[in-house]
Amino acid sequence: MTRDSLIALGKEFRRLGMSDHAEALAAYYRSNQGNVAPYGWSDAHVQAWLNRLRIPPYGLPLQPRNSACTGCGPEGVQGGPRTHVTFPGGCEVACDRCGARWVELANTEAKPLGATGSVQSSGHSRGDRLSSPK
Ligand SMILES: [Zn+2]
Repeated sequence: MTRDSLIALGKEFRRLGMSDHAEALAAYYRSNQGNVAPYGWSDAHVQAWLNRLRIPPYGLPLQPRNSACTGCGPEGVQGGPRTHVTFPGGCEVACDRCGARWVELANTEAKPLGATGSVQSSGHSRGDRLSSPK
């Protein structure tokens, strides 16, 4: 993990309003700098967030909302892709069948893959399904 990617991750946490995560990441960074025992977050945990929030050069594949597992194909729908972790604006999905993981963002539903770019908050989110109660 590079310093730049950790800084980018911290900024992304703040942008998403995840201040507790930003503070935990800062504590993780400080503990690594001081050569003391890692406090709180493990390397694997930080790595998981770099992948989840797709901080370059890291990042899980991005798929539209409620997609089937590309590893399992059509059968993957029954295999049980399930939400692993949610964060503001999206979630990480894990397939119980093959172990594949990917990220789904709230506003990627109708857009082709690769045309998403960053999540713009225009102040007028149309139908944010992730924020609706289950
Ligand atoms: Zn699968």
